[in-house]
Amino acid sequence: MLIKSNQIIRWIELANAQIDRQKEYLTQLDQAIGDGDHGINMTRGFKEIINKIHQTAYDDVGKLLQDIGMVLVSKVGGASGPLFGTAFMKAGQVLKGKQEITISELGQAFQESVSGIKLRGRSQMGDKTMLDVWEPVTQYIQQNGNTINFQELAFYAREQAENTKGLEAKKGRASFLGKRSIGHLDPGAVSSCILFETLCSILIEGNVTEDVKRGIS
Ligand code: ADP
Ligand code: MG
Repeated sequence: MLIKSNQIIRWIELANAQIDRQKEYLTQLDQAIGDGDHGINMTRGFKEIINKIHQTAYDDVGKLLQDIGMVLVSKVGGASGPLFGTAFMKAGQVLKGKQEITISELGQAFQESVSGIKLRGRSQMGDKTMLDVWEPVTQYIQQNGNTINFQELAFYAREQAENTKGLEAKKGRASFLGKRSIGHLDPGAVSSCILFETLCSILIEGNVTEDVKRGIS
């Protein structure tokens, strides 16, 4: 299976719609253990991305991801904008010059995203952050490669976000609460989960289209 820029654009459009739908929910999650702006930050960022990517024609998957990252870094305040921005920019650097990418290349690109989030956020797995979704999801993609089942990956991403409930926050605003952060979902882990769920939906759709073309279904 190969992924092209138009699928990445459809992914971001779907993510934008889904984040918009979940805006209040993301804000409520951040009200519980942060400052209540995560829904606002994410919707603002994704609207800006849509504006940007609809103004330009993209063949290069890497350039597209880099531009997405740049918008997030420059237009979104808070901790999450620069962190998500770094994730997209790092993935874009790996994929620069490619008009289509394999699942394995997507895994390599997300591996760089994970390293970028860790470096910029000085965070690690178990700190109750977005990384608790990014890192296991990336490992899942790398381990499964072309045999990946995107429906299962979507469930897996959701499960990882749910698991942040039991963790004590070690980074970001939620860490000010110490043990009182336990019992709440991490907002950035949930928005990361939305990103991966929407990516899975687009790639499931893509697979079906390819199968139909080959006359399998
Ligand atoms: P802010 O915390 O500045 O208000 P947001 O509310 O938009 O920014 O984003 C909060 C989310 O950012 C958290 O739920 C967490 O997932 C993520 N986050 C915060 N700090 C870090 C960090 N150091 N490393 C990784 N992720 C982080
Ligand atoms: Mg916040």
